[in-house]
This record gives sequence, structure tokens and C-alpha cells, in this order.
Amino acid sequence: MRTIDDLDVAGKRVLVRADLNVPIEDGRITDDGRIRAGLPTISTLRERGAKVIVCAHLGRPKGEPKPEFSLAPVAARLGELLGAEVAFASDVVGESARATAGGLADGAVALLENLRFEPGETSKDDAERGAFADRLAALAELYVGDGFGAVHRRHASVFDVPKRLPHAAGGLIATEVAVLKRLTEDVARPYAVVLGGSKVSDKLGVIDNLLGKADRILVGGGMVFTFLKAQGHEVGGSLLEEDQLDTVREYLSRAREAGVEFVLPVDIVAATAFAADAPHDVVPADAIPADRLGLDIGPESGKLFAARLADAATVFWNGPMGVFEMEPYSHGTRAVAQGLVDSGAFTVVGGGDSAAAVRRLGFAEDGFSHISTGGGASLEYLEGRALPGLQALED
Ligand code: ADP
Ligand code: MG
Repeated sequence: MRTIDDLDVAGKRVLVRADLNVPIEDGRITDDGRIRAGLPTISTLRERGAKVIVCAHLGRPKGEPKPEFSLAPVAARLGELLGAEVAFASDVVGESARATAGGLADGAVALLENLRFEPGETSKDDAERGAFADRLAALAELYVGDGFGAVHRRHASVFDVPKRLPHAAGGLIATEVAVLKRLTEDVARPYAVVLGGSKVSDKLGVIDNLLGKADRILVGGGMVFTFLKAQGHEVGGSLLEEDQLDTVREYLSRAREAGVEFVLPVDIVAATAFAADAPHDVVPADAIPADRLGLDIGPESGKLFAARLADAATVFWNGPMGVFEMEPYSHGTRAVAQGLVDSGAFTVVGGGDSAAAVRRLGFAEDGFSHISTGGGASLEYLEGRALPGLQALED
């Protein structure tokens, strides 16, 4: 894969596909980790005299402009972090974008409005996506792919634009790929993988592939309840993927045959409602009351998980152990984060919410070997799938 060192960018308009998909609450950015992760590439390009045109998406506005998904607050934060003005285009490929991109001086930076305001960005129709990619590519002379969190998407800005412009991978993508290689080739063992979070159906797929690679798989978060149910236990109103029960049973039996250790929680924090102030108790994992829902792994499980990480040499963690945004259900996630830090292993945290969780819970970033900006992208890489955005950069 070519890197930006292989591009002659001085005086050129360079379109950078970044991942600036940060959590925003009431117009305020609650975690700017992804913006900071994108800074080195943008700064390097500026220092080399490029006119930097950044494009990115935010949330899922579904192909039309919606003010709550505007990248305007991100432009402001990006400017603060760069210590430079960031010209903000109020559209993606329209008049404002053309004027903003065309008016940049060498070393200056612009940000285009949310790519997903345009239906062509995510379209499944090659012609519609291609037509949008043409307009985006027309804004620049070179392309740098650096939005690692989006490389698993066959989207115009990720997949089609690099086919239209000389291109290279940015520093963030280069770093992320180097880390993922350490998790797939010559992995230091024992290799433990911790999975949690709420996108259960997305994440069950990765287990299929991990059964041949990991030595231990620890399961927490919303995923747990499909496992507990598959073992015949009551899960009350907890998150459940009914149609995945057979898949999960198959995973459990394949793991037994392959000698992969599955570590499931032994206790659960079960609440009467999805709310921080709802009455809640720690119950055995096999005795969740039918009128409760599980919102965190319990304290014994936290200890168990940390113990199963203590002697690991490599740990990959994706997905919070509970609803960490609410203090009463944050302890399992804290215990696992501490377990990673104390393990001394090569530790990788992947996933937007997982990365936000460790920062929100007050962990120093350097306590982990790498905090990845990509959740879905990391998982698909670990699943062994070809990622469209990486493929496009390699061509
Ligand atoms: P990531 O972004 O790290 O890949 P996900 O997006 O899959 O992780 O999941 C993060 C979300 O999972 C968090 O918002 C958290 O509140 C939620 N979550 C964790 N455990 C549970 C649970 N038991 N029930 C419901 N939601 C949960
Ligand atoms: Mg998430």
C-alpha cells in the first residue's frame, strides 16, 4: 500500500477521507478521539504544502441534509486541535464545496459537509455511487484514504473515489493495519478476545473466524444473553438475538472440540428498566428474573474476566461489558479495561463506544497498546474479509 510519503502533494488539492464520526449530544462533541486520531495525516499534508480538503460522515442521515447531523461542530473542533482555521463547506459537492476547495491556499484546510447528506455516498447502485464519486473526485487532484472506521464500507468516498484519483493510505490507516496484522499473523499467545456491546448480530460473525485463532473468548455486554438463552437460561427482557440461538450453540460445541475456552459471566446486574435510577441487583447469570433486564456483567464476572486476561500475551477487546454510559452499569467495563491494563499484554481496544468508554471511565490512553478508531472495520478484518476501502487503496 502506498503511503502519503509516496505522493507529491505540494501545491495540490488533496481529498482526505477521514473518520470524524464522533458522538455528539445536544450539539456538543462528547468524545473527540476520532478527530485527534486524524490529525497527524492532516498536519503532515499541510506541512508539505497541500491544500487539504477533508471529507467525512456523521451518523446516519440517510441521504438527505439534516441539521442534527451537520459536521459544523466537528469543523470547529478540528480547527481548535489543528490550531488553524478550517473552512467549512455547507454542502458536499455543490457550489459551497467547489468554492471552498477552489479557494484554498497551500497548507490550508477545508471540511466538506456530511458525505451521507448525499444519497450517492452509500448507494448500492454502482452508477449512482459512481456519479457522486465523479463529483467528489473533481474537487481534488489526489486522494488520501485515512477513515479507518469506514474502510469496511463500499461507499463512494471510500471505494470509488480512489479509483478516480492517484491515491495513498494516510498514517492512521497504515497504523491500524499494522496493528491488525499483529492480531492475525504470528499472534503472541495466549490470545484472548473480549466481545461485548450491543451490535450483537454484527459481532457474532467474528466468533466463527476467531474459533480457529483465539485461545480464549470472553463474552459480555448485550451479546451474553443470546449465549445464556442458548444454554437454556431465562434472560428476561435483556437484549436477545432469537434467530442466532442455533449459531451460538454451534459455536459453543465447536469451541469445546477446538479447545477454545469460552468465558461467560457468572453474575449479571439485572434492572427493572433501562434507566440509571431503576432498581437493580446482582443475580446469578443462570437466574435472571423474567421481569428484569441485564445491563452489566456482575462483580464476580469482572474478577473472572480480569483473571482470564492476566496471563494473556495478546488481547483484543471490542464492545463494552454493560451500559457504561450509566454509572450503575459501568463497573463490568471498568473491570475489563483494568484487566487489559494490568495484563501487560499487547492490548488493542476496538470500537467507537469501547474507545469512548475507556476514556470516559478515566483510563489513560497509554495504558493500552492501541486504541483503534474502527469497530466494524477491525472486526471484519479479523473475520478475514476483504475490506473495500483497503482494497481500493492497494489497487
Ligand atoms: P462498539 O462501538 O465499541 O463496537 P457497540 O456499538 O456494539 O460497541 O455497543 C456499544 C453499546 O452497547 C453501548 O452504548 C452500551 O450501552 C451497549 N450495551 C452494552 N451492554 C449492554 C446490555 N447488556 N444491554 C444493552 N446495551 C448494552
Ligand atoms: Mg458503537
